[in-house]
Amino acid sequence: MIQPFGTATDIAAAVRSGQISASFVVDQHLGQIAQLEDEICAFNIVTVEQARSRANEIDAQIAAGEDPGPLAGVPVALKDNLCTRGIPTTCSSRILEGWKPPYDATVVELLHQAGAVIIGKTNMDEFAMGSSTENSAFRPTRNPHNLSRVPGGSSGGSAAAVAAGFTPIALGSDTGGSIRQPAALCGVVGVKPTYGRVSRYGLVAFASSLDQIGPFTKTVADAALVTDVIARPDGRDSTSISEPAQSTARVLHEGVAGLRVGVVAELCGEGIDSDVAARLQEAVAALEEAGAQIGQASVPAAIYGLSAYYLIAPAEASSNLARYDGVRYGLRVAANSSPAMNIATRSAGFGEEVKRRIMLGTYALSAGYYDAYYGKAQKVRTLIIQDFAQAWEEFDLLLSPTSPTTAFLLGERTADPMAMYMSDVCTVPVNLTGQTAMSVPYGCGDDGLPVGVQIMAPALGEPVMFRAAAVLEASL
Ligand code: GLN
Repeated sequence: MIQPFGTATDIAAAVRSGQISASFVVDQHLGQIAQLEDEICAFNIVTVEQARSRANEIDAQIAAGEDPGPLAGVPVALKDNLCTRGIPTTCSSRILEGWKPPYDATVVELLHQAGAVIIGKTNMDEFAMGSSTENSAFRPTRNPHNLSRVPGGSSGGSAAAVAAGFTPIALGSDTGGSIRQPAALCGVVGVKPTYGRVSRYGLVAFASSLDQIGPFTKTVADAALVTDVIARPDGRDSTSISEPAQSTARVLHEGVAGLRVGVVAELCGEGIDSDVAARLQEAVAALEEAGAQIGQASVPAAIYGLSAYYLIAPAEASSNLARYDGVRYGLRVAANSSPAMNIATRSAGFGEEVKRRIMLGTYALSAGYYDAYYGKAQKVRTLIIQDFAQAWEEFDLLLSPTSPTTAFLLGERTADPMAMYMSDVCTVPVNLTGQTAMSVPYGCGDDGLPVGVQIMAPALGEPVMFRAAAVLEASL
């Protein structure tokens, strides 16, 4: 699918220098949306009026000789689990019907301060639970590269919006892979920052010990640009890292000469399609060619990542989603008593997958099962952290595929939750450890659909991770 417009970096430079107006840029992207959105369904809402008036503001700033900031006039789409003041925030769930947050998420404030133009809220798996965006209560999003395929999930709308040229930047959230996996399937760049690096204030909570916000972009340089804008300490998120972030944009061209790069054996074997494995090998060769030292890395406990994740994430979700009681947010289904209202609201408001997670999580946390399930999963989490710590003694970066397969068909995995969960096998370990990772597009599979390579770095290793990403991008 055509991508007629510039990168975020180009747009911001052109707007700041007065070459083009922010209004022109917004209209261009709204035009692209008008043309293709009916087929792709990336958005829950396109905020046309707000975007136009915001663009006018930017243009007025330019006319007055002010600098709107590093994202001057750049359209941004937000996953619909990021709070936007006065604009519906649905998490693609019926239960939030009609709810308009009274405040903006910290990332939304930061984008605004940097001169960005919010153009809409993107479709997602309900409450970010899923890997295909088919769990949206509204409608599935389609992959811009092939409309019969899923865009991945849960941030499928954001990934598709960037791939379709609707916006140069979208934000998503990544609890177990929800930025990286859709980025891979849609052929765009997706970044999960270190846990605590980007404020979660105003991100609707799924699994609080795993959730992170990050960008989707067409290029590595754009991803660095956005990461530098949103990676800030924030007193409103108690897990926010208080030290300032190191710039990723500034080191982008430092290369990988002398860096030690390990290919994670446990994430490259069984279950990975051969065309995906072949692209990974080509990426490895490109890094070696650029001067990196390549080796085999082993993170033995990573194979238990999926099992631990699918206990810990539902456990945290069952607690986080208890707040949707028919009183405080959105939907209320009337009934004779308060408990009956509560049950009726939750029964009608939550979809199948969300209910499945709440039940799994409640079970894993219940007396008598806590030690066997939740407690055990936490121990496995510690083992994974220890195994990675050992790998970091030998390597600066680790590599794996992002997703075991290219984009699958709509409907292909909906009847089989286990098959759907397997999509996350390569991405969840990094959420359990809190490290940073990103997906970089690297060629296509036998079906002609995009393949992503995952680069993992230790906590706060974003600068070195971006250096490798830039080398991979340039090698294509
Ligand atoms: N696909 C995973 C899940 O369903 C990850 C979701 C996410 O990262 N938000 O839980």
